[in-house]
Amino acid sequence: MADRKSFITPERHGSRHPLNDLQSLANKYHCDISGVEFVKRMDEQDTLRGLRHEYHLPKMKDIPEVDKSLVNPDSECIYFVGNSQGPCPKETGENINLELSKWAKLGFNGFTDHNVGLPWATCDEDLETSMATLVGSVPGEVAIMNGLSVNMHLMLVSFYRPTPKRHKILCEKNAFPSDYYAFQSQISLNGYDPSTSLIYVEPRKGDETLRMEDILAKITTEGESIAVICLGGVQFITGQVLDMQSITLCGHAKGCYVGFDLAHAVANVPLYLHDWKVDFACWCTYKYINSVPGGLGCIFIHNTHERNDFPKLLGWWGHKAESRFDMDNKMNLSTGARGYRITNPPPLLCASIKTSLDIFNKTTMEDIRAKSRLMTAYLEFLITDRYKHGDSTDSIPPIKVITPSDPEQRGNQMSLTFPNQDVAAVFEELGKRGVLCTARKGFVIRIAMAPLYNSFDDIHRFMTYLDQALKAAVTK
Ligand SMILES: *Cc1c(COP(=O)(O)O)cnc(C)c1O
Repeated sequence: MADRKSFITPERHGSRHPLNDLQSLANKYHCDISGVEFVKRMDEQDTLRGLRHEYHLPKMKDIPEVDKSLVNPDSECIYFVGNSQGPCPKETGENINLELSKWAKLGFNGFTDHNVGLPWATCDEDLETSMATLVGSVPGEVAIMNGLSVNMHLMLVSFYRPTPKRHKILCEKNAFPSDYYAFQSQISLNGYDPSTSLIYVEPRKGDETLRMEDILAKITTEGESIAVICLGGVQFITGQVLDMQSITLCGHAKGCYVGFDLAHAVANVPLYLHDWKVDFACWCTYKYINSVPGGLGCIFIHNTHERNDFPKLLGWWGHKAESRFDMDNKMNLSTGARGYRITNPPPLLCASIKTSLDIFNKTTMEDIRAKSRLMTAYLEFLITDRYKHGDSTDSIPPIKVITPSDPEQRGNQMSLTFPNQDVAAVFEELGKRGVLCTARKGFVIRIAMAPLYNSFDDIHRFMTYLDQALKAAVTK
């Protein structure tokens, strides 16, 4: 991907806030930016709008929590949970069934059959190119296997090789629990003490998000004792996007390996893992990639590590395919990421990933990103316009957006906090109106707007329901 530049670099210079673009569009269309006519025009000009129809979006009437007296039961829910579990693509069932019927018809021969669906023996390999494109990597750097948390362990087995001088892992204070447990247990397994070997970057007192300068300062001061830096590319609570390129550069200057958990980043923001020289990464496919619940995870290993001389956990599927079935117990390891595969790949799960990636292949991450910049800016504008100081009647306390306002530091997700409000009550009232979103840590509601299937109309409807929910929650 040598011709691609970091998405951070070009946009930082000379690109304006997407709210300015929204305002120009409102002027062009001669409509009020907050009005329904503007929303209609925005959806009409959206080049991705056709892709919404590729997905089953749940109907209000099918969700038990929805109060059918408050909404039109036949309308679609507002699907703002793509950061947790994506919606089901319409073709997924058919493609999984194809593999099942192949099994019924061909039995064992399905492993090599190339006529229908995926040949089971290489069902993961057939998806690598599309997956690699999503994360900005070159062939050989990506493998599709296991689940994210398992893969995080496998990466740490290779990249975390502590010595008395260099034994630390640097993560974020609010790291995802699974990552946190992986760091702790890998440190202990290596005979070190997590209370001294696991160190953190965290927001400053009074801040909700990390500051890049603090992360870089931490790496600079502690770097010589850090073996691995592993952060979330997009923070799962706040939606903050980190400058992965600068972190990698800074970590490498200090001799550290740098990896990222991309659960919330992949298919959300453009990634250029190869160009950024990231050492390793892992992610799951059921969030923004919309694969089946519990679907496979993925790894990225930079091809500078292609020789694969790291210690690792081995299995027969990491063996080169051409001699795998010699069964002579002499490991002839695949180069690159494929060498990390331990077990044979599951075709039903791969059929689901393939279905999802085929939709991504109809567009580009750059187009997806362009739409998400507008969507988040739009929601941010509407929320701050109406609720920054509470509503005009003073009956509703203010709402705070804790996701960075800088468009380079956020992706699809907007995290809202409700000081002086009962967040659980607001969340419940949103649920009654078919707004599918997530509440975390008892204070934040996360709104994830995925450009493939969310529309500006979704945002507009959300604002109506939010208003109702806030009023209902206050009077509770
Ligand atoms: C969703 C998520 C995971 C999930 O891990 P699984 O192994 O797929 O259960 C891990 N890390 C982060 C940051 C996540 O958001």
